[in-house]
Amino acid sequence: MSPRALVTGGAGFIGSHIADALLARGFHVVILDDLSTGRRANLPAAAEFVQSDVRSAEASQLVREGGFDVVLHQAAQIDVRKSVNDPVHDASINILGALNLLEAVRATARRPRFIFASTGGAIYGDFVTPPNVEEFAKDPDSPYGIAKLAVEHYLAYYGRIHGLEGAVLRYANVYGPRQDPHGEAGVVAIFCNRLLDGTPMTVFGDGRQTRDYVHVKDVAAANAALATATLPALGRLDARAMNVGTGAETDVITLAETLRRVSGRDSAIEFAPARPGEQLRSAVSVGKVQQLLGWQPQRTLAEGLQETFEFFAAQRA
Ligand code: NAD
Repeated sequence: MSPRALVTGGAGFIGSHIADALLARGFHVVILDDLSTGRRANLPAAAEFVQSDVRSAEASQLVREGGFDVVLHQAAQIDVRKSVNDPVHDASINILGALNLLEAVRATARRPRFIFASTGGAIYGDFVTPPNVEEFAKDPDSPYGIAKLAVEHYLAYYGRIHGLEGAVLRYANVYGPRQDPHGEAGVVAIFCNRLLDGTPMTVFGDGRQTRDYVHVKDVAAANAALATATLPALGRLDARAMNVGTGAETDVITLAETLRRVSGRDSAIEFAPARPGEQLRSAVSVGKVQQLLGWQPQRTLAEGLQETFEFFAAQRA
């Protein structure tokens, strides 16, 4: 019988690619999503779909009765700025939603592995020098990052106290087909649309702020590998947390220039005042995920950006 996976947020950007990757590896995939930002068009035809909120009794029942081998929890309020404006709403989905599912996992006899989508971009804060290693201090500068860290603490607790099989992937800035402008690598979607419109790409500040851009299909492959991997013993917070990125810092001007080159379009780069509080540097170390999952990013940034630009161009055809 095929192994069974539940992907929450599977109508969204990353979750839909994870569902594709699991289906390709022979999993039976069920997607749980409330379609608040996700889209029906992203749902793979071969997956089962349940439209519901992760905080609901229906979601809890699905986890308790679905006979899953693995739950990949991607559903979230993903907008960092929204979390600043309304931390209660953010915590309601990002903390209480996760807890609803974790309590349901605890109530099952079969105890599926619980894989949590955390952030390597927003969890460490700006105090450390990249590339960030999993054990570095975590001082998130947003309610979004705090909520992700809180759920990581809950997972460590559920592991130690209840023996629940948790694991965490801390994504860097994920880009690729199906992304929208609001995620942590939203700038790629924004620039692609500017190139297609022939309008300038706006860079805030001096454009030397860096991010670690990782392709969504590489992120999906890491999740699929983790679904069945042998892991270290359950333990403290970082024991089963792995960064997923490239280790490379790319600044905004280099990103804009690379997109211009691979797209063959020539929008200008325009400068606007720096945004207060914007993180200056970010990249994650990837030694641990390579060691534990044998995972490495398969695409160069130029290849991935070209594929992403072509996706946005095809949307307009
Ligand atoms: P996304 O918005 O495309 O996907 C999130 C999905 O969750 C959507 O389909 C949405 O409809 C669903 N959802 C939201 N609230 C829900 C609720 N209450 N109940 C049920 N479904 C709900 O975002 P994404 O970029 O694919 O992010 C996926 C995960 O990866 C999130 O947990 C996010 O925090 C994390 N992450 C993303 C990035 C990035 O660069 N995009 C970086 C680090 C971490």
